[in-house]
Order: sequence, then structure tokens, then C-alpha cells
Amino acid sequence: MSEELVRQVADWIRGAQCVVVLTGAGISTESGIPDFRGPQGVWTRNPGAERLATIDHYLSSREARVQAWRNRLESPIWRAEPNAGHYALVELERKGKLDTLITQNVDGLHQKAGSSPERVVEIHGTVHRYVCLQCGDGGPIEEVLERVRNGEEDPSCRRCGGILKSATISFGQNLVPEVLERCYRAAQRCDLFLAIGTSLVVYPAAYLPGTALENGARLVIINGEPTPYDDYAHAVLHERIGEVLPAIVERV
Ligand SMILES: [Zn+2]
Repeated sequence: MSEELVRQVADWIRGAQCVVVLTGAGISTESGIPDFRGPQGVWTRNPGAERLATIDHYLSSREARVQAWRNRLESPIWRAEPNAGHYALVELERKGKLDTLITQNVDGLHQKAGSSPERVVEIHGTVHRYVCLQCGDGGPIEEVLERVRNGEEDPSCRRCGGILKSATISFGQNLVPEVLERCYRAAQRCDLFLAIGTSLVVYPAAYLPGTALENGARLVIINGEPTPYDDYAHAVLHERIGEVLPAIVERV
């Protein structure tokens, strides 16, 4: 770990007026939640699974929904605990240096660590809630998981009979416009954009560092693997997030 780079980034954060953070799967792998596109990623090892993770497939295939709920029930997310990376971002907020925390993760670990819910923007939704794809009714996911546990393989909406799904964004599904708008506004107004544990290849989230750069912000990338933005970033740290992020925040 480059001590000099850690200090440099800490200095930039200290001097910044508005820091916006974008996190991806890489921050949660250290909590035991598998990522999708990393070297050991779910889709890297099984490309067919990515093709099946579309909204069209979910809507058209009962079998896909049965499998999706079964997977949900067994997901490592329910047992996962936040790690040093999540807690470092809580500390960053406590130091008054976090404007907005945009996350591509659906695991809720930032809130579980103690980040203020009003500062966290879940651009790809959350597994902690469900939604009816027909009437929009929703609630805590546990209500549906309980029905699955009790033998309903593909529980339907109790209000309208429609198809239920976790409140996450699947391939082919539009992001919530207000959520996306909030992300762009944050990227535009920040003067330091910190991309952590994201491969920066999934759009539109991957547009955000570009938006920040266009508006004159500094870009810092912390990720295990190279990203398409590495050449444009002011600093790139290919380090373990749980080690380097606390080291940076400690020096802010
Ligand atoms: Zn409904």
C-alpha cells in the first residue's frame, strides 16, 4: 500500500467541499457476498446465469421465479455483516466529508454499518424489500420469504394477484428516474468523486465518474481490478478496500 498515495487522497478529501462516493460489489465481497463480474464472479464462472437474470425471463417463466425465490432464501446476504470498508464510510460521514453515498449494491450493508439512510442512494434497488410488478404494492421482503418458506414457490401479490419480485433492478428493467436524477445531480456538484469496488462497466452507474470529471471534480478509484476509467483518474489504488479505505479516512 502506497503511504504517499493514501496521504494524497486523504488531503484531497480534507480539502474538498463535496465528496460523493460510488460503491460496487467489491466492497461487499469482503463481507462474503459474491460479486458478479470479478475474477471469481458469479457471471464470470457461469455466463449463462447472466442471460437468465433478465426481467423478460423473470416475467415469462414461472420456473425462473421459483428458482429466484429459492436463491433469495439461501442468499448469503441475510447473514452478512458490514466490514472495515463499510465502517470507514460511516466514519467519513461522521467527519462531515460525505455528501452522498451511491451504491450499486442491493445488500443494505451501508445502512447496517450505520451510514445515514438519507445519504445512501441504492441505484440498483434493494433485496430488503419486494414490489408487485403489476400494482406497485410493496413491503419488507421477509413477508414474501416467509410465504416461500411455508411452501408457496412463486407467491403472488395479495392485492392484485400480480407477479412479485425483490425491489432490485434486473437487466432490461429501467432504473427509477428520480433515483438516477439524484445520482447525476450529486456527481455534477461534487468536487471529489470516489469510486470504490466497482468495475465501472455497468451503465448508467458507470457514467457517473465521467459526469464528475466533466464538471471538474477529482476522481479517485479504489478497486481490485483495473477499470475503464483508470487512465482518467487522479489516483488509482488497486488495493484491498477493507485495508486502504480505513487508512485513508483515518488521515482525513
Ligand atoms: Zn399487486
